[in-house]
Parts: sequence; structure tokens; C-alpha cells
Amino acid sequence: FLSIRLQTQKFSDLEEKLCSPSQLHPKPEVSSLVFGKYFTDHMLEIGWNANKGWEKPVISPLHDLQIHPGAKVLHYAIELFEGMKAYRGDDGRLRLFRPDRNMIRMLNTAKRVSLPEFDMEEMIKCIKRLIQIDRDWIPHSNTSSLYIRPTFIATDPSLGVAATNSALLYVVLCPVGPYFTSGFKPISLLADPQYVRSWPGGCGSSKMGANYAPTIYIQKQAEKQGHQQVLWLYGDDHQLTEVGTMNIFIFMLNKKGERELVTPPLDGLILPGVTRLSLLELAREWKEFHVTERNITMAEIVEAHAENRLLEVFGAGTACVVCPVANISYQNRDYKMPAVESPLSQRFFKTMSDIHYGRLQHKWAVDI
Ligand code: PMP
Repeated sequence: FLSIRLQTQKFSDLEEKLCSPSQLHPKPEVSSLVFGKYFTDHMLEIGWNANKGWEKPVISPLHDLQIHPGAKVLHYAIELFEGMKAYRGDDGRLRLFRPDRNMIRMLNTAKRVSLPEFDMEEMIKCIKRLIQIDRDWIPHSNTSSLYIRPTFIATDPSLGVAATNSALLYVVLCPVGPYFTSGFKPISLLADPQYVRSWPGGCGSSKMGANYAPTIYIQKQAEKQGHQQVLWLYGDDHQLTEVGTMNIFIFMLNKKGERELVTPPLDGLILPGVTRLSLLELAREWKEFHVTERNITMAEIVEAHAENRLLEVFGAGTACVVCPVANISYQNRDYKMPAVESPLSQRFFKTMSDIHYGRLQHKWAVDI
């Protein structure tokens, strides 16, 4: 019986090795921000080792990693990542949006991909400190933000397909511009049931890199056919699961003519999006229409479309908040979404943005 408590990573142990003024990089113009292309001056790293537990967190100038070519991450994709944002409010204050939800998801993914547990509260404190250090990188614009990419990789230099004995958790930051540079641009989706993103008993509900590599080829197929994203279907009945790297929402009239907001349930096939959760909570607070987490099939979409009961379809995720869908291409037919007055997706976008930028005081927006 091993009673030694392995060291947990602690914010109070954080070591800071900051850039000298000459090492600081010039910041890009807000207008030239391409998602994930520019990185801030510093990064956070926390090493882990099976014998000693967590090492002390270190913030240092952004640098290349040195890892052994046999490191497990490079062979078996033992890694995970997260995606969250910090916002500079209209009042000048910096806020994170529900970082606890991202950390819970990160811990769940860590378990699924056999990476060690960490203390999420300590982690959030370390991330906040990193953001404070690089705060000048957060654009002074209420359509831009700082994208935060926590990453966790298995560094053990041994080729056995087994749990790793060493790992590195690190966080890098990217200033990002508005997802839609000139207002909302509704997208077209390819819904082809021959492609599947996740399956029962798989790991589609985890945010591990291994889920994303196989999607790029299919995304390319969608683009070749003139669409922007893939609508991921599952099963013989062609259930809608997700759209690209977003959760999907369908706003429709049900058979009784009542308004219903539908999103697929968290049944293991779907990433539990923080935006998804927030939109569901907002809609349930509003109490203006039915809000349902249930399976919805393409047959139901086709039928609702034919009966003019489809109001809106949109994706939801951190990158764009909400992304309206204009068209679904399915079995050689295009299903165009109707133009609606004052769309629900816009209302969600406005409410979420108001929370992000501090125009609406809300417990989800956490001061940095
Ligand atoms: N689904 C997938 C597959 C994703 O990669 C993401 C982005 N994390 C989402 C949904 C949306 O999640 P969130 O709202 O937490 O960004």
C-alpha cells in the first residue's frame, strides 16, 4: 500500500522567467489576426512524472519543445487539448468564460486518454497568471479575444502502447479576431452518412487530438463540393450529431406547431460544449419555447423542411459562439434554411457577447 501523496501542481510554486524587453514580439494588427497563427510572448509548462508527480509550474518565453522521437504522443497520439477564451471587456477588465467547465472536460479527457489528473483550481490560477503577464496581447476590440490552448502530451520516450510515465501540460495563447469579419455569414454543410466522427463506446465526447486528425480529409471533401463544414451523422437513421467542431442546434416548430429548440443529447458521441451548455441554460431561463436534448434524424429535418417547420439551424462553439447554417446538402439535395426575422442565433450571440465583454454582469464571466 503506497501512502505517499504525489505532489500536485501548485500556483504558489509558480516560477516566472519573463522575456527581457528586447525579447518581446510586436503585436499583430487586429485586422490581420488569423485563428491560431500568432502566439503571445510567454507559455506555461508543468511537467509530470509517475514517480514524483507534478513539478512546479513555470511561465517562460514561448519556445520550441524538445522531446524524444520515441515520445508516446508522437506515435499513439496520447494527448489532449482544450480551447477557451479571455476577453477584454468594454470596461477594460479581463474575463474568462466558464473556465471550470473547460477544466472539467480536460480532466475527463485526461482520464480517457490515460494522462494524469491535475488540480483544476490551481490550473485556472496558473492560466490567469499567464494571461495577466501577456495581457497586452488581448486585442482592444469587442469583437476579438485571446484564445487559450491548454495542451497535455505524453512524453515518455518508449514505444510500448501503454500509459506514459512522463507528461507535459502546457498552455499557449493566441490573439484572435472576429470569426465573421463582415457580420454573420451562414454556412453550407455536407451531410454524408458514409463519414462518421464518433461511435458508441468510442471517445467522441473527449477533446483528444486523435478525434480531429481523421476529420480533416472529410472536411476537404466538403470544401471540394462547395461547402464550408461537415454535418456529422451517425447510425442507420442518420442522426445529426455535430457540425464541424461545433455542437448543433435546430430551432423548429414541432408537429403541434410549438417552437422547440433541439440539440442532440450527451450520449457519448458528442463533445460536451461549453457554448452548448450555456445556450441550453439561457434558453431554459428564457422559458419562451421548448428546449429539448434528444436525438434528431435527417428524416425529421427533411420532413420539417418540407412542411416549413424548420426555423433555424446553427452550430455553437467557442470559436464563433454561434454559426448560422444556410444549407444542408444531403443525398444529392440541397435543403435551404428559411430567412427568418430576428433569428434566435443572433439573440444567443448578442447575449453571450454581452456576457463575454462585461456588458451583462453574469456569474459565467470570471475576472482574471
Ligand atoms: N464539438 C467539437 C467536436 C469541438 O471540437 C468543439 C470545440 N471545443 C465543440 C463541439 C464546441 O465546444 P465549446 O463550446 O466548448 O467550444
